[in-house]
Amino acid sequence: MMTDNKNCPKCHSTEFVKSGIIKERQRFKCKSCNYYFTVQKLGKRIEGEYVIKALQLYLEGISFREIERILNVSHVSVMNWVKTYNIKRPKTTANVQPEVQILKHKEVLALLGDESNLDDGGLLVTPMDSKYLVLTWKKRFGKKNTEL
Ligand SMILES: [Zn+2]
Repeated sequence: MMTDNKNCPKCHSTEFVKSGIIKERQRFKCKSCNYYFTVQKLGKRIEGEYVIKALQLYLEGISFREIERILNVSHVSVMNWVKTYNIKRPKTTANVQPEVQILKHKEVLALLGDESNLDDGGLLVTPMDSKYLVLTWKKRFGKKNTEL
C-alpha cells in the first residue's frame, strides 16, 4: 500500500528526518522516539514510469497480455492508460515482431558487445527496476522470453 502518512507509525510524531533510501523507499528516523520507518514515497514516480513503459511497449506492437506479463501490471490498467492518454498505434508495414526481454546489466553488455545484434531493427534499452527492459526487432535472437 502506498502511504502518504506524514507521521511516525509508532508514536505518531510528525517530527522526523530523512535517513537514507532502502529498496527505493525513503527511510525516516523519528526525532521523538528514534524509530526508523519507510514510506513508499517514490511509489507514485515508479507508477508513472510503468505507465510510460507500458505505453512504449504498446506502441511497439506488444499485446496487452504480453505487457501484463512483462511489467506485471494488469492488462486492464494498460488498456485504460491507452485510453486515458489517447495513444494511437500508427500502422506499420514492417513485419518484424519486437521481442521483449528483461536483462541484467551484464547481459545487456553482452548483447551490445555483439555488433550483429545492432544490425537489423536495432534495439532499445530502458531501465526497469534493477534490470533493463530490452526490445529487439531482429528475428534471429538467441534467448527466448521464457526465462522471465
Ligand atoms: Zn516516533
